[in-house]
Amino acid sequence: MDLKEHQGKKIFKKYEIPVPSGKVINQGDDLTVKIFEELGVDELVLKAQIPFGKRGKSGGILFVTREDFVEKAKSLLNKTIQGFKVEQLWVEEKLDIEKEYYLSTTLSRTDKSYMLVFSSAGGVDIEEISEQHPDKIIKIALKADWQKQFAQECLDQGLSQKVVTHLVKISEKLHQLSRNDVMLAEINPLILTKQNKLIAADSKVTLDANALFRHKEYQEKVKSGDGLEEEAKVKDLAYVQLDGDVGVIGNGAGLVMCALDTLAHFGGQPANFLDIGGGADADKMTEAMKIVLKNPSCKALFINIFGGITKCDEVAKGIVQAVKKLGIKVPMTVRLVGTNEKQGQAIMEQNNIEYYQDMEIAAKKAIKSAKESK
Ligand code: GDP
Ligand code: MN
Repeated sequence: MDLKEHQGKKIFKKYEIPVPSGKVINQGDDLTVKIFEELGVDELVLKAQIPFGKRGKSGGILFVTREDFVEKAKSLLNKTIQGFKVEQLWVEEKLDIEKEYYLSTTLSRTDKSYMLVFSSAGGVDIEEISEQHPDKIIKIALKADWQKQFAQECLDQGLSQKVVTHLVKISEKLHQLSRNDVMLAEINPLILTKQNKLIAADSKVTLDANALFRHKEYQEKVKSGDGLEEEAKVKDLAYVQLDGDVGVIGNGAGLVMCALDTLAHFGGQPANFLDIGGGADADKMTEAMKIVLKNPSCKALFINIFGGITKCDEVAKGIVQAVKKLGIKVPMTVRLVGTNEKQGQAIMEQNNIEYYQDMEIAAKKAIKSAKESK
């Protein structure tokens, strides 16, 4: 689960990583220039709190003075960026930038440790940095005595001793906070100010969704149904959001993967994948369809069932129930074979719902209907 910038910065502050002073503004709040006095500055940065980066390039970051603060804050709060309505701003002091660095800790399963990634060419995405300046990336496993090696490599890249000392300290803090269920803690850019200070100008903190029960303060999001992955988890379903247009439901991770590959093979793009697991009953199937259909980019539904301990008649009952209760508005393609297939198929026929026995034919049909329903 990705935290918002201001939530990440609050964690940074708690761990004594320097962050600019700032304040949250929500839609409907009074907008007055008093905020300049509160923060004790003459120039501010308005930052849209949306769940993705590259805001700088998409108009989500604006610089303001007392003269244009109200007007620009209003316009940003009315803006839609990449289909996402801006409802909250993080307003913070504007920094005098000398240099922009990149710093992050990630959990590496292969190395069985956290990795520290630093680049003196920050500000842009790490993908771009690795393409354009692969030589400027320092990557170090956070195992015993990593500090010395890291400091040396930074000095070799021309950073001053004073900056390196501070950088090591910030990295230690980042490592420390990561141990608290954080999969990624990224500061991009980590700014070196003209006053020669390092300050975290942005934050991206990804919490392990499986550990959310330990982080009650972020659980509201689950209740509001904002994150479908979390909502599915509560219902004992595994949902993963993807960026295509065909919603995929199947029983068992392997079969779902197979459905995704088949879709891709025929030129389709999955909007998600949802695994109902083994032995799901009718209600669970209905619940699965409800969650997938909440994803607005799902233009067609592909249900791929190969019944083992999951019984086709239960799945069919669940589908019928969903059709009756939810009023499904997107075309649905069902492949239904395996345990109790005769009973399941009979239920589908009684309810005039088409089904297929062949996965490839069904996959092609789902791709076609997604294209047509756009
Ligand atoms: P992102 O584009 O969503 O990652 O948002 P960032 O918070 O990283 O901001 C994007 C860019 O805006 C940064 O790389 C900086 O160049 C610039 N920026 C952000 N905050 C400040 C600031 O306080 N002062 C100045 N001068 N530039 C800033
Ligand atoms: Mn950034």
